[in-house]
Amino acid sequence: MSFIQRSIRTVFLTELLSGMWLTFRYMFRPKVTINYPYEKGPLSPRFRGEHALRRYPNGEERCIACKLCEATCPAQAITIEAEPRDDGSRRTSRYDIDMTKCIYCGFCQEACPVDAIVEGPNFEFATETHEELLYDKGKLLANGERWETELAVRIAADAPYR
Ligand code: SF4
Ligand code: SF4
Repeated sequence: MSFIQRSIRTVFLTELLSGMWLTFRYMFRPKVTINYPYEKGPLSPRFRGEHALRRYPNGEERCIACKLCEATCPAQAITIEAEPRDDGSRRTSRYDIDMTKCIYCGFCQEACPVDAIVEGPNFEFATETHEELLYDKGKLLANGERWETELAVRIAADAPYR
């Protein structure tokens, strides 16, 4: 750019005016921002958020302690211990996820044959301490109870593509 062109731009404030014109034009377009946390954008049924352990409608735990999720987890974030119940069924006695190791890959959900461990829509679970992100079975089952309605809808929406 020559000296004369630069001088003209400086004297007539052309860059400032073009910027203001751009701002003026966007004033009449639909807003792309939302007032979070009071407004939230749509989430894909495949969004991988906070983990949950689900139950069947009769209250029985879905998890059969096959440990496929533990074996497939690339971050080795899952720890499972299992023992047979009095009725002979196999269930977990311990199901821990270290959420600070988890990379939210979704492999545990993919591996589960009974849709027990799932990653739900909740992404608002930040904590102030490491310990709060060491989830145990009770916490995961509580998440499942809290989010079951949304989880069932998400799984049904994604089912045709699996
Ligand atoms: S989402 Fe991935 S990293 Fe996290 S617990 Fe599941 S398998 Fe492991
Ligand atoms: S959550 Fe699913 S994959 Fe993991 S141990 Fe239980 S049944 Fe098996």
